[in-house]
Amino acid sequence: MPLSDAIEAVKRISRDLVVLPGSEEYDGITKSYFSELERELKPACFLTPSSVSQVADIVKAIKPFAGRSTVAICGSGQQATPGVANVHHGLTIHLRNLRGIEIDTEKKIVSVAAGERMGKVYETVMACRTWCSGLSYFSYARGFVCDNVVNYEIVLASGEIVNANAETNRDLWIALKGGGNNFGIVTRFDLSVFEQGQLWGGKIFLGYAAALGDIMCMNDIFCLNPGKPKALEPFADIQPQIDQMKTLRVDSLKSFTDEAFAGALANRVVKMSTSVKADTEILEYAVKTYHASFEKLKGVKNLLFSISFEPVPVSLIEQSISRGGNSLGLKTSDGPLVVVLFYTSWDSPSDDKIVYEVNKEALETIDSEAQRKKVSAAYRYLNYTLTHQDPISSYGSESKTHLQAVSAKYDPEGFFCHS
Ligand SMILES: Cc1cc2nc3c(=O)[nH]c(=O)nc-3n(C[C@H](O)[C@H](O)[C@H](O)COP(=O)(O)OP(=O)(O)OC[C@H]3O[C@@H](n4cnc5c(N)ncnc54)[C@H](O)[C@@H]3O)c2cc1C
Repeated sequence: MPLSDAIEAVKRISRDLVVLPGSEEYDGITKSYFSELERELKPACFLTPSSVSQVADIVKAIKPFAGRSTVAICGSGQQATPGVANVHHGLTIHLRNLRGIEIDTEKKIVSVAAGERMGKVYETVMACRTWCSGLSYFSYARGFVCDNVVNYEIVLASGEIVNANAETNRDLWIALKGGGNNFGIVTRFDLSVFEQGQLWGGKIFLGYAAALGDIMCMNDIFCLNPGKPKALEPFADIQPQIDQMKTLRVDSLKSFTDEAFAGALANRVVKMSTSVKADTEILEYAVKTYHASFEKLKGVKNLLFSISFEPVPVSLIEQSISRGGNSLGLKTSDGPLVVVLFYTSWDSPSDDKIVYEVNKEALETIDSEAQRKKVSAAYRYLNYTLTHQDPISSYGSESKTHLQAVSAKYDPEGFFCHS
């Protein structure tokens, strides 16, 4: 059945919910996606609910006419993977108008509507003395962000609005922690908060000789106390540094977040990653592979190409488990791990092919070496995978079976499910 029937059905709820091509609003939403690869997907329309009941009404209205391949859900469009939060010629349910942040200081919970941006959340929780939410600077002590979601409010494929937490719909709560958008549209996240003053941290940049290819090294370091700790001195004081670019300071979490997202709109971007055990030799091998890949990409116009190491220490996995568990399938015996992220941005579609091929080849090379050295890891980080990768299977068969069972229970017709 044509999507125009679905659009008409939504218009019958309210014409204001439908944002059509050619309008200023449509162009504004398109421009807000982080990567050009998402921006160049042009949905038949954006559907922009501003309340949970409107989300439910939209789901009920479009379900007879649309399916998984024609519907996308967008929070704020900051994930780089093309097609995760937008769909060409389909219907993109964009949650940007779903607003509201409420703090319950007694229960130490902040409730965040799905269209809010983190900067605003920080601003609000910090205005309320010094509470702040458990985000990735805190992962080593508090687990992944999803581990700190104590309740999800979610619209299911039936249009029913339910809550998922440790007591109610616990199986769905676990599935939503890492299982992606396969179960419904989350309309509100209730996150636990904790007291946090100013932090010490920021970025330092290390410059190398042009003979090495003008490659720069950036070190992003943080401490939850407002001062440089001895343990981080070797990382903070390493030389030679580019002093003009150094941002180490004592500051608020909001300020550090603003710094991370400054000028965040990019051109074409892909992020691809693998994971390995925290083993020095394999990390050195990954850097060597990065250098070799950089040589192959040198002809790409306006290239920005980086490798990052993001640690997943055992303490993080312990926190995930102690906060009720998630879907990622990580056991403490798996850690410590390092997520090896390749980030590429470039200008021209004519370079897409070489960028994809070189990145894929680089990660395959690292994976093979990691397997040979027996330091490989199955886990793939969902935020940093590309479409040919399979993060859900990487969680292991037990977790994947759970996710499939939850999908079958809460969405028996598979409206939201990626097969
Ligand atoms: C400058 C920059 C820095 C970043 N740094 C980090 C970092 O440090 N750590 C990190 O993990 N990531 C980082 N990211 C990646 C990005 O922030 C995450 O991928 C984030 O999860 C994207 O959130 P979003 O709401 O924009 O999701 P979107 O891009 O809108 O969507 C991502 C996926 O989630 C689904 N989805 C979104 N909202 C909902 C909902 N309410 N219900 C159901 N499904 C939904 C979408 O369908 C899609 O599949 C960074 C990105 C940028 C641009």
